[in-house]
Amino acid sequence: MLAARSRALAHAALDEPLSDEEALDFAEAGSDALPAILEAAGAARDRAFGRRVTFSPKVFLPLTNLCRNHCDYCSYRRSPGDAGEWTMRPEEVARFVAAGRREGCVEALFCLGDKPETAFPAYRRTLAAFGQASTTSYLHHGAEVALAQGLLPHTNAGLLTDGEMARLKEVNVSLGLMLENVSPRLGEKGMPHHRAPDKRPEKRLAMIEGAGRLRIPFTTGILVGIGETRRERVESLLAIRRLSRAHGHIQEVIVQNFRAVAGVPMQHTPEPDAFELSHAVAMARLILDGEVGVQAPPNLSPGGTASLLAAGINDFGGISPVTPDYINPRHPWPHLTVLATECAEAGFTLRPRLPIYDRYIDRDGFLDPGLREVTRAAAARLAGVEDLSRLAAPPQPAARPAVEREERVQ
Ligand code: SF4
Repeated sequence: MLAARSRALAHAALDEPLSDEEALDFAEAGSDALPAILEAAGAARDRAFGRRVTFSPKVFLPLTNLCRNHCDYCSYRRSPGDAGEWTMRPEEVARFVAAGRREGCVEALFCLGDKPETAFPAYRRTLAAFGQASTTSYLHHGAEVALAQGLLPHTNAGLLTDGEMARLKEVNVSLGLMLENVSPRLGEKGMPHHRAPDKRPEKRLAMIEGAGRLRIPFTTGILVGIGETRRERVESLLAIRRLSRAHGHIQEVIVQNFRAVAGVPMQHTPEPDAFELSHAVAMARLILDGEVGVQAPPNLSPGGTASLLAAGINDFGGISPVTPDYINPRHPWPHLTVLATECAEAGFTLRPRLPIYDRYIDRDGFLDPGLREVTRAAAARLAGVEDLSRLAAPPQPAARPAVEREERVQ
């Protein structure tokens, strides 16, 4: 068994990813196997991406925090009338976009709750007051505002139909949806997705597959520490690999660790320890094909830069010099100069990137031709960024409230 595992790791480090059987076997491996798993994952990353680790300078636009689901770990969602309910007004969208452009961002990330108009008449009235027939229309408008400022939209709006994705592809360089996990067990009573109908794995897999058919550069990912087993994580990564191999549209996979937040049902659930996160990141690197990036958010692992790099990441995802992480507002982004120093100490160079991976810009059928010029212009801006300190002062949530309560739409 040990010799077989060593051979599998050596092969994955130097040649091809683990087979399904090998990956499932490593799901059962104990902590004594971790050093060898990490070493192989680091080598596989170096082979595919070298010693360059990237991030996307972004402005975060939480278009609405209304959501029809109730995930037990979520502190973002609101219902109409809840304290902190917020749907961005069109003028707020324009203001955020302008601030992002001023601060050197290239990505406009639109992130929102799932299917709010199916659950909340008050939200439908808000959209109508904005002159928008649907959330998709409003997202389309917001993306046009961003494009006019030279920012590249990336939208994560929860579950979307093929028709909605096709419409958003006209104005987004990429779309995203976290798979989270393929286990239906997590939707059972007492589990975190029991009250979240849109977290049923078959629905999410179907949307990711639909994005593949539509040739949309796509970001997905898994959550670590929400009650899943290691085997279920590996099965989720294998499911993503199958979709990626079928359609070639998965540009990156996020490995996101659960962080406990006061006031949510899972507030007392233990967070995943360093072993679990390192194991999950390394397995992602050893399972996914070389062209697919592996990303972990640095603000959810403060002090963990070296560990994440050792486990095989090549990307930190979006980092904003303008806005907090509205999904995890208690976890501020790192200062880029500090992050760059930590990367350098580990032997890596930190560089900004676009929200669409370079290989998709000219690949037939992926990027809408109408977005090529703005994408190339954004790439040229990034190529000129020599000094990351220009983007080095991320806002602290307490210092920059999203917007005053009385400004918000009721
Ligand atoms: S995690 Fe997403 S889908 Fe779940 S409740 Fe929060 S906003 Fe809604």
